[in-house]
Amino acid sequence: MYSLVDVHKRYGLRTVALRKLSLDIRPGEFFVLYGPAGAGKSTILNLLAGLTRPTSGDVRRNGASIVHLPPERRNAAMAFENYALYSHLSVAENLAFPLRAAGVKHAEVTARVKSIAGVLGIPHVLDRRPGFLSGGQRQRVALGRAIIRPADIYLLDEPIGHLDAKLRHRMRAELKALAVEMKATIVFTTTSSKEALALGDRVGILNAGRLEQVGTPADLYDRPANTFVASFVGDPPMSFLNVSTRAGDSGPVLVTGDGQVIAAAPLSALGRTGLKVGVRSTALTLVEPGRPETLAGRVEVLEHLGHSKIAVIAAGTDPIQVSLPADAALRPGEAVGLRIDPTRLHIFADETALTMDPA
Ligand code: ADP
Repeated sequence: MYSLVDVHKRYGLRTVALRKLSLDIRPGEFFVLYGPAGAGKSTILNLLAGLTRPTSGDVRRNGASIVHLPPERRNAAMAFENYALYSHLSVAENLAFPLRAAGVKHAEVTARVKSIAGVLGIPHVLDRRPGFLSGGQRQRVALGRAIIRPADIYLLDEPIGHLDAKLRHRMRAELKALAVEMKATIVFTTTSSKEALALGDRVGILNAGRLEQVGTPADLYDRPANTFVASFVGDPPMSFLNVSTRAGDSGPVLVTGDGQVIAAAPLSALGRTGLKVGVRSTALTLVEPGRPETLAGRVEVLEHLGHSKIAVIAAGTDPIQVSLPADAALRPGEAVGLRIDPTRLHIFADETALTMDPA
């Protein structure tokens, strides 16, 4: 188990990269750090690798502080975005380097290099030098060099960020399979929601040096702790409607800015200001306008995704994204009714999720 305990990290006087952050990485888990650029993801990897020290707080391995342990004694394998390969060595020699340094026998080195090159889809460039590779190929060699040898922890900083969409998709699957097979402890950073959900056993959502939420992909998608997580996890992102509460015929209800009733208000929403309802694009259906228990809306934009379509609907003042079948016949400007699945509503007050009443 690796732990960051109340880690505060400042660069110089001004930049605070991490703010009193605590995090446990469990043995054998694929942990994804997901957040926008500048959130502090690389700083966490550098702290775990021993390349930098916290300004205050502690970094621990199995409960013991490793803050003063130099990188070479941490047995951490790293693949960083600015893939530093040995330019005078071939791809095969670059991949073999960590194994030779660890005294692995020649025959085994050759076999492992061949195998990892196969997994990464680069067997045809083994004889080339890094200068003669594409960015995506270089990135795969850097990843290969990190994962080729046994390590206590693998620190992978956006390791597939430079690959084209198709290759990225394939590498995601390969990497996940490889991680399961290696039973490795991996910390992987990304700015892609898809990558985070697809790869992580658990995902930590980092924003401006703070962890907004840590959980399984299902936790984050189904039970976002706040509007940042809700709008950052899932593609298309969750849509939000500004609402308030008012008395209805059979108890308090949530209403939109222009007075349309959305659903019964949970007790936790009563007396709160800054209320928002969040809905996923798949929790909505479009019906004819004017039906009871629907919101009135108008189609603004249609996005074709091939297998499906996203309609952006203006409901009152708020734009809402709705997933539709690819063949849905809709035109911009058309009036529609929006039906929200009441079991799939998320309610937030001051950007924090409210608990729903037990059914
Ligand atoms: P991420 O990996 O999420 O993009 P980083 O950990 O690289 O974020 O950076 C977090 C913050 O710390 C950013 O504001 C970045 O500019 C700053 N930072 C990172 N490394 C350094 C450094 N060596 N010196 C000064 N500021 C840095």
